[in-house]
Amino acid sequence: MVEPKNNVIRLDELDMGFAEDVAKVGAEKINLCIQCGTCTASCPSGRRTAFRTRQLIRRALLGLRDKVLSAKDLWLCTTCYTCLERCPRGVDPTDVILALRTMAAKAGHMLDRHKMVSGFVIKYGHAVPVNEENRKLRASLGLSEAPPTTHTFKEALKEVQEITKKTGFDKLVCFEWK
Ligand code: SF4
Ligand code: SF4
Repeated sequence: MVEPKNNVIRLDELDMGFAEDVAKVGAEKINLCIQCGTCTASCPSGRRTAFRTRQLIRRALLGLRDKVLSAKDLWLCTTCYTCLERCPRGVDPTDVILALRTMAAKAGHMLDRHKMVSGFVIKYGHAVPVNEENRKLRASLGLSEAPPTTHTFKEALKEVQEITKKTGFDKLVCFEWK
């Protein structure tokens, strides 16, 4: 059997309630999109990858739930907010992407590298823990070696970890407590 190409849309894969679901997760202005393409033209990530913001939003509006939520491109946005500043319709495309990521994560589509970074947050309280090199750099700039975060307030890390347990975030990112 010949597999359909990724850009072929089948009627049976259209979910008319999808855009409404995305709106409920925090992207309530998604329906204002007029497909002008300003977001794609402004996107620094799209300049280096195949990620196309306008296309992602179009697919979401069409109701391509599975295709959108399982797309690896969804994770290529760096959340720089340029598209949010420039969208002429005030769609807040970055919010659309974050809402889609929330839904994708719940559906089990989070990429492994994002799970790994999330694991750092649980383990250290930082997505990018401060290493020895950073400590020296901070000191050379007249700053305290450790930033005023969990690196300084060790007891706050327990609170971070408690929150991740209570919200189920640890399970979502498959964190192993050992
Ligand atoms: S810039 Fe705004 S209106 Fe234009 S395609 Fe992107 S989200 Fe839609
Ligand atoms: S927020 Fe994401 S989609 Fe928008 S311009 Fe920046 S990288 Fe591109």
